[in-house]
Amino acid sequence: KFIVFEGPDGAGKSTVLQEITSKLQQTGVSYLTTREPGGTREGQLLRELLLRTDYEWCGEAEAFLYCADRVQHVRRLILPALAEGKIVLSDRYYYSTLAYQGYGRGWNLTFLRQINQMATLGVEPDLVFLFDIEPELGLSRVKKNRQGQAPDRLEQEELAFHQRVRQGYLELAREQNWEIIDGSRDLAEVVDSVWQILQQRMRE
Ligand code: C5P
Repeated sequence: KFIVFEGPDGAGKSTVLQEITSKLQQTGVSYLTTREPGGTREGQLLRELLLRTDYEWCGEAEAFLYCADRVQHVRRLILPALAEGKIVLSDRYYYSTLAYQGYGRGWNLTFLRQINQMATLGVEPDLVFLFDIEPELGLSRVKKNRQGQAPDRLEQEELAFHQRVRQGYLELAREQNWEIIDGSRDLAEVVDSVWQILQQRMRE
């Protein structure tokens, strides 16, 4: 099974993923947790390029870089793990490109869907969790966690950008029947509801 965690910054998906990983470890099932951008060693390089604030990619170039990271990720990590029968849990997948570059920055969704069709090699997840949160709360969590590090590129975006990303995610979630998780709740509560859903869906 291929499971994807999506959502805006500060919604808690990475923290919840860590907690879920330690629960999975206890059950003894075979799994792989990974992330985008930067799930592979090569992808790490691309991640550094993408998140730098001192370069300005044109829209298409940025989208292609995310897609280069993605196809490397799918081919080298995700597909082999699925073939070994592992449960794969990924922090972000191509929906992030649709939400951030498409809905957030307003780039052409048809173009983004086309290049992602190639980048994913057609691999679709079995289950997607959307961690939903008000951008104001999400961003305040990001600031709190940053602890002295320089703000990343997206923190410099205006609030309206983050609102568009959130609306985009909600639209995708409704179209495709994702599990929408209210990320504003306490961590323990959020982990609990994700774990329940996951256990149920793994039995199916
Ligand atoms: O999820 P993570 O913190 O690893 O993502 C790194 C940064 O890249 C975040 O600020 C995220 O919002 C941004 N990002 C993006 N477009 C994507 C994927 C991630 O702007 N397609």
